[in-house]
Amino acid sequence: MARYTGPVCRLCRREGIKLFLKGTRCYSGKCAIDRRSYAPGQHGQGRKKATEYGLQLREKQKARRIYGVLERQFRLYFAKAAREKGVTGERLLQLLELRLDNVVTRAGFADSRSQGRQLVRHGHFTVNGHRVNIPSYLVKEGDVIVVATKSLSIPLFQEYAESMRGRRVVPWISVELNAARATIVGLPKREDIDIPVREHLIVERYSR
Ligand code: SF4
Repeated sequence: MARYTGPVCRLCRREGIKLFLKGTRCYSGKCAIDRRSYAPGQHGQGRKKATEYGLQLREKQKARRIYGVLERQFRLYFAKAAREKGVTGERLLQLLELRLDNVVTRAGFADSRSQGRQLVRHGHFTVNGHRVNIPSYLVKEGDVIVVATKSLSIPLFQEYAESMRGRRVVPWISVELNAARATIVGLPKREDIDIPVREHLIVERYSR
């Protein structure tokens, strides 16, 4: 699947909040939102109050941008969530959380979802013993994600255990630091998903 390749700080500025798309830079003084908190473009500082449609659009764009998913794929996630049991908005977020690129980021192997995506694309992980290089691969409860043996010599993974000390991992992933292994021990509940999105507005947008 294709992905957005333009300047990412611009996306945060457009949404008016930090989307944390650049890893450690997002916590530094170089963050574009801290320096220019208005929307990009010629009319960025003069935008009018959003309409109901505008609010729904912004929530959808925010979710897409946080997970690095383009419109067509996002619609497919929504269609799948709408078909399945449960609350559609929550299921949508759950599906996005279960993407392999998000899971390796949540487990601490990557600094940002874009880095997680790149590591997956380069074949650095196995799922249940099989190498998987598809960032959108959806993991299931009980799946075990491990850094591939050949990749363990990469400094990023050698420093994994040390970099994770004191860091909290989401409750639905259990990590074994010294084995560079992550196990999906449950499905993410809404309260475990810390992204600032009002999913009911996304559902309203696609239900028009
Ligand atoms: Fe967004 Fe991070 Fe860029 Fe700040 S540094 S604007 S949080 S991507």
